[in-house]
Amino acid sequence: MLRSVLTRAVPQFSRLSVSRFSAAAIPAPNPQPEVHYNKLFINNEWQDAVSKKTFPTINPSTGAVIYEVAEGDKVDVDKAVKAAKDAFRLGSPWRRMDASQRGMLLHRLADAIERDAAYLAELETLDNGMPYAVAYAVAVPMVLKTLRYYAGWADKWEGKTIPIDGDFFCYTRHEPIGVCGQIIPWNFPLLMQAWKLSPALATGNTVVMKVAEQTPLSALYVANLIKEVGFPPGVVNIISGMGPTAGAAISSHMDIDKVAFTGSTEVGHLIQKASGASNLKKVTLELGGKSPNIILPDANMEDAVDQAHQASFFNQGQVCCAGSRTFVQESIYNEFVERSVERAKKRVVGDPFNLSTEQGAQVDDEQFKKILGYISSGKKEGAKLMCGGGAASDRGYFIQPTIFGDVQDGMTIACEEIFGPVMQVLKFKSIEEVIERANDTQYGLAAAVFTTDINKAQYISNSLRAGTVWINCYNVFGVQAPFGGYKASGIGREMGEYGLEGYTEVKTVTVKIPQKNS
Ligand code: NAP
Ligand code: MG
Repeated sequence: MLRSVLTRAVPQFSRLSVSRFSAAAIPAPNPQPEVHYNKLFINNEWQDAVSKKTFPTINPSTGAVIYEVAEGDKVDVDKAVKAAKDAFRLGSPWRRMDASQRGMLLHRLADAIERDAAYLAELETLDNGMPYAVAYAVAVPMVLKTLRYYAGWADKWEGKTIPIDGDFFCYTRHEPIGVCGQIIPWNFPLLMQAWKLSPALATGNTVVMKVAEQTPLSALYVANLIKEVGFPPGVVNIISGMGPTAGAAISSHMDIDKVAFTGSTEVGHLIQKASGASNLKKVTLELGGKSPNIILPDANMEDAVDQAHQASFFNQGQVCCAGSRTFVQESIYNEFVERSVERAKKRVVGDPFNLSTEQGAQVDDEQFKKILGYISSGKKEGAKLMCGGGAASDRGYFIQPTIFGDVQDGMTIACEEIFGPVMQVLKFKSIEEVIERANDTQYGLAAAVFTTDINKAQYISNSLRAGTVWINCYNVFGVQAPFGGYKASGIGREMGEYGLEGYTEVKTVTVKIPQKNS
């Protein structure tokens, strides 16, 4: 039973590690976990916002308020930056710590998260609406892998010796950038936190992180674990608050040396601008996408249908690299659409704490309404609604798995990121045509191709302008492999060895070598 739920939730996961989880069954979740932390985490202390303001965080499955959380603002960001700057000063415990010890702290953090995995997954499901089975058996394990992978890098991120001309010894040092601002979204709160913290801390930076207003709870609990395992005060500071206030204070701060952001392309523009207008802090961005998923007639139909389903619907469609333009060759188009509709109608939508649920709630009322708006634009602009199309419950923010057929390139639903469980199926004739249409977008985050012809797979994959291309699979992530976007989908790469570059300054040191008789 468990195996089939997880296999349906994330197919590639079935190949990676379902056996481990089917052996150790998922513990029955508590749908009402207690909230322990709701304040700002600055200098390893819990603090109210200076303004004393709070905001409610909502359970998207019911619309009810879970808890009031401190609303950090510019003055709170200033306090956090001061703490992070102090923690980074020359000779501080963090700067003097051996690199291997930094790695050890990251390992200890992973161990503490693993100990509290069930509770953290409950908090994630409560605050975000994702199925508990996904939070516990997919998101948390990926968090652990990320922390442990970068823990290993802490004392292995080596510079080079360089044979420059003349009597000199030249080498490079990989040094931390300094105080890093990190702004994360709500779609995978724990995982986005781990993706940002792990490379920054492995390389010796200090951090001021703003978590998304929709989902602050799991990140604040992790803050407590950061203190518990022994990170020195000020190394990690976590602020809950709003984008235009706390977020903007980070991107325009004169004492923040680098900002890393994941979220919408629209806000990505603001972050880049704020950096330019302030101190030219380094910027890395992981933004939106409208990723093409190309199905050729020789593909294994069953696999292609299932993977395209997951590409569109996984995590309620709230995935930056969602395969939100499914291009299907005309000779298999009708069969593909028919089988996709059959699959979508079977998708189990409902209470995310129920272990057989595949699709939980959208994150909030705003996203819920935005997605329904896109669905009505699809109908108005002439796409054919094949299934779904409305709310899936009269309470909470649930949306029916929705499929549009006969989608044309210029339609709003084929151009804009919907960030919801809505699949667009487009018809194509030739490979040259589909490559051109797939690339005709401002985005370039991910893409996929399904075919049994290796030559076609390579040709298409090399021709697509995207940071990640999957061949005969979708949403396969390895912590060892880089992820990031071409074009308006971002700047820089996260994960893998490449992910270290975004947190590193390269120093060139040149030493004169005295000659024997001089
Ligand atoms: P967003 O506005 O870009 O939010 C992402 C993060 O940026 C949040 O922490 C947000 O704060 C913060 N932020 C907002 N305005 C800011 C500003 N002026 N300066 C600095 N930080 C700011 O995304 P969203 O509103 O949550 O979702 C809107 C769309 O973004 C989605 O429909 C989707 O297209 C895209 N999105 C993409 C990803 C991704 O992984 N690439 C993830 C989530 C969303 P708040 O706490 O106020 O939200
Ligand atoms: Mg927002």
